[in-house]
Amino acid sequence: MLTLDDTEATRQRIIDACLWMEAKGLVHATAGNISVRLNEGLLVTPSGIAYDALTPDMLQVIPQEGDPDGQGGLKPTSEWRFHQSVLAARPDMVAVVHAHPPHATAVSIQRRPIPACHYMVAAFGGTDVPLVDYALFGSPRLAQDTARAMERRTGCLLANHGAVTAGETLEKALWRMLELEMLARVYLLAGGAGAPVLLSGSEIEDVAAAFANYGPQDDT
Ligand code: 13P
Ligand code: ZN
Repeated sequence: MLTLDDTEATRQRIIDACLWMEAKGLVHATAGNISVRLNEGLLVTPSGIAYDALTPDMLQVIPQEGDPDGQGGLKPTSEWRFHQSVLAARPDMVAVVHAHPPHATAVSIQRRPIPACHYMVAAFGGTDVPLVDYALFGSPRLAQDTARAMERRTGCLLANHGAVTAGETLEKALWRMLELEMLARVYLLAGGAGAPVLLSGSEIEDVAAAFANYGPQDDT
């Protein structure tokens, strides 16, 4: 099971990640949240604090399962339940990122998954980015349904809400969120210009296999 240490550097990476998401237009105000798995517990962003006001001591440690202890002070993110459930479902992932990116959220409002409209859909582990049914933010049902979708994917849309991604590193979870927003944007653009042509399941499988050799280093 992948874990990180609860150090000042880890806490600063999470704050930097929040600021990066804001700079990329993936979140605004206090929307969105981040978690990483520790040996014992999860390190999560606090609820309702503007990202530019975050300091390392404000991040909250919650248990890997069960309710946070609620000992006063800042509250953990209101979405602590889906951070717990997604990381429990994915021992191969260490970080979960939630955002309200405009194009991904627009597709979620149309109540559609993102189909294989671009080869980068393979970065999410299959032939689509699935849609999770609408449920109240922070609710046990949202946590349960999100974990179910993320058992077989590394990203999903939350109906009338936003998106969730997971990563083997925090940086990969962030990269997937940016890619998910790009996919949603081109999908909406293409839909406005006519009927999109989608890739087949076997074309997406070929992309997933080709990813193994993609990158700047020649390891052969
Ligand atoms: P928090 O500020 O509690 O993390 O909530 C933001 C959010 O996006 C809820 O879905
Ligand atoms: Zn949200």
